[in-house]
Amino acid sequence: MNAEILAVGTELLMGQIANTNAQYLSRRLADLGIKVYYHSVVGDNPGRLKESLKLALDRSDIVITTGGLGPTQDDLTKETIAEAMGKKLVLNQESYERIKHFFERLNRKMADNNAKQAYLPEGSTVIPNPNGTAPGCIIASEGKTIIMLPGPPKEMIPMFEGTVFPYFETKTGQVIASRMLKVFGIGESEMEMRIIDLIQGQANPTIAPYVGLGEVIIRVTAGCRNRCEAEELLEPVIQRIRERLGDFVYATNGENMEDVVVKLLLDRKSTLSTAESCTGGLLASKLVSVPGVSQVFNRGFVTYSNEAKIEELGVSPETLEQYGAVSPETAEEMVRGLAKRAGTNAAISVTGVAGPDGGTAEKPVGLVYVSAILDGRVETRKLNLIGDRERIRNVSCLNALDLLRRMLLGIA
Ligand code: ATP
Repeated sequence: MNAEILAVGTELLMGQIANTNAQYLSRRLADLGIKVYYHSVVGDNPGRLKESLKLALDRSDIVITTGGLGPTQDDLTKETIAEAMGKKLVLNQESYERIKHFFERLNRKMADNNAKQAYLPEGSTVIPNPNGTAPGCIIASEGKTIIMLPGPPKEMIPMFEGTVFPYFETKTGQVIASRMLKVFGIGESEMEMRIIDLIQGQANPTIAPYVGLGEVIIRVTAGCRNRCEAEELLEPVIQRIRERLGDFVYATNGENMEDVVVKLLLDRKSTLSTAESCTGGLLASKLVSVPGVSQVFNRGFVTYSNEAKIEELGVSPETLEQYGAVSPETAEEMVRGLAKRAGTNAAISVTGVAGPDGGTAEKPVGLVYVSAILDGRVETRKLNLIGDRERIRNVSCLNALDLLRRMLLGIA
């Protein structure tokens, strides 16, 4: 079976958004063993959409469209495809009720054009949308399958995972299970060198590494007749990768670094506070995105200026004068002062130059110090990061969390 992903949306053609849906779907179709030969993008134009659909159907068994299922005038995917396939749009009562309920929950009146979203091509299978109004649908006709999904990833992904992925599992007679390992602190090439024989010798499970933001992600995927067998195949491979990469592997179920750190803190009944300069609250924000963090997270300061570092954290003016705000001495005084003021047994501080301006020969953009304290013991890491401001801020947070993770595990 081969597939084509046809993204619909003028925004994509104008470069206003990136086609992350195609990237996501391609990855997941590969997990299913379905080959993707083409990605195409077309604007919100019925004529060109019809042409693209025809071409896609001529060369691919499966066509997955994303976008253009909304309630507005320019959302034409469903109407255009139904017309091209010679199918009428008929009211799908179940979808109508869902949309109605969606608006009731929000305490909003359902507009007439939302009702239009409950009309689907006759004979199609509904893909319920738990996070929005537009249902998707699957049309299987004359050996071809067309799947329509909405554009917003937060709607599209759960719909793909909840309905489309199992639909293909049934078709292929295979159950697919995959696990995501996350690796931090080792470069992609070093990581690959350590597991290259496993990657090259792979058959089932498959091992697919890819680069994330400041980290490497390894997806291990197994196909089997049932889920239990697939899980059994995954575990030994995951163990082998862990043996090779050691504690650079921080998660084996796709968890984020903040999830892992919060879990470790919860297990130890520790409390945490943060003081941030160049990350400006990003670290605290990552932490509070973890459910249950309130049991460990006490407070977070954004101490951007020298005055704030002195007033809120008790950093000495002499230290700032002598070593500067971006220095191991300041990072350490920040974290010590913070833990004392907040009364937490764990604390993290970050201070650095996120750029693009403000760098000097001695302290270039990307120079960041992160410190962590655990039960009175302080560790500090010096980072020389590359990339733009956003990347530097994100990777600083990852490093700060990783430092505390290692201290909590007793390996730093
Ligand atoms: P809605 O019901 O929200 O109108 P829709 O199915 O009509 O959904 P579009 O109007 O085409 O979808 O796109 C809505 C938003 O979804 C876009 O503004 C964009 O943020 C996101 N989006 C659309 N297509 C893609 C894509 N291919 N990759 C990533 N994001 C996308």
